[in-house]
Amino acid sequence: MAVLKILVIDDEPGIRSGVSRILGSFHVTYPFMDEDYTFDVVEAGTGEDGIAYIEKELPDILLLDNKLPGMQGVEVLDYIRKRNYDIVVAMITSYASLDVAIRATRDGAIDFIPKPFTPQELKSSIENITKQLYLKRITHRMNQEGKKIRYQFLSVLSHELKAPLNALEGYLRMMQEKQAGDRIEDYATPIERSLQRIQGMRSLIMDLLDFTKIRLERKEEKVQEVNLRDVATDAIVTVQPYAIQMDVTVHLDSRSEAVVMADPDDMAIVFNNLVSNAVKYNKNGGRADITIDSSENEAIVIVADTGIGISKSDTENLFTEFVRIKNEKTRNITGSGLGLSIVKKVIELYHGTIKVESTPDLGSTFTIRIPKKQISIN
Ligand code: ADP
Repeated sequence: MAVLKILVIDDEPGIRSGVSRILGSFHVTYPFMDEDYTFDVVEAGTGEDGIAYIEKELPDILLLDNKLPGMQGVEVLDYIRKRNYDIVVAMITSYASLDVAIRATRDGAIDFIPKPFTPQELKSSIENITKQLYLKRITHRMNQEGKKIRYQFLSVLSHELKAPLNALEGYLRMMQEKQAGDRIEDYATPIERSLQRIQGMRSLIMDLLDFTKIRLERKEEKVQEVNLRDVATDAIVTVQPYAIQMDVTVHLDSRSEAVVMADPDDMAIVFNNLVSNAVKYNKNGGRADITIDSSENEAIVIVADTGIGISKSDTENLFTEFVRIKNEKTRNITGSGLGLSIVKKVIELYHGTIKVESTPDLGSTFTIRIPKKQISIN
């Protein structure tokens, strides 16, 4: 239950007490709101008293009569607007002064309540105002949260790029100052580590490109029929050199035709990430099995590996940006921690789901389900 403070400025005591009585027991609720709204009404008989109240405590809503003994309603409105106070103002006016109401609307009043009004008319205006207020506040909150997330993202990203750069700088200085000897062979280890760091930065940048691509390059006209078997085959071809190096065999079992309406680039991002993880986090001599199947409405993709696995507690944050599991087994494996967060975003864009089941030391299975029918991805 949330309480909104309403200030009513009107020189007619009957109107003020009427508003207090009607709204005192009124509450507003909509299915999309997370709580009910009730109202706490305070009264002022003049514009001057109203402003004194506002200066003490900002109301959420102001019901403002225009014809007042001293300062006029539009002047009160002007006062509020100049100070940028976050108050929703509704004018209470008689039909005879509609022009005032229209001017007031231009000056920032969002509604006007014609006088005389029935309890029902007052309630429906308040209902409307509450809805607008709620939407305005929720939009503001979402913008603030979005900003915070963007800054967090940038700060982690800068850190992820700074660490390898520092390492590279260290190795180069070591060579410049000939700290390990005069021959190039004396620097085999720092050179190898530098190359690894460069490779790490490159894959981070590639992941970032995917990340921005799924956020910025949404184009409905790229959506077409995509046969997931073809995408899986491409992903396997791409990962093959790495699989050979890791001594991991990759199998594809395409049980039924799985065709979805999608941007093929998006599907490639999903398969490349899952298949390369199944190889990367595997063991020597291990297997990666990709199964493609479909039900009446969904395409189902299962990527299973016989690798190092993931503990139950680690699976919880797996799909969050920059999350990498740090333990003895992953110590020498490089990555950005972005891949699975990108995969999840893409899948959700297509109203699909992704889940993981894993047993440490035995392997992991990622299952994705994507609806086959065309959906809007914007
Ligand atoms: P990256 O591989 O770049 O670190 P991801 O977002 O693709 O980032 O994966 C996040 C983390 O999840 C990885 O660091 C790894 O610890 C774990 N992980 C992902 N896939 C697997 C897998 N198939 N088996 C075991 N662990 C995995």
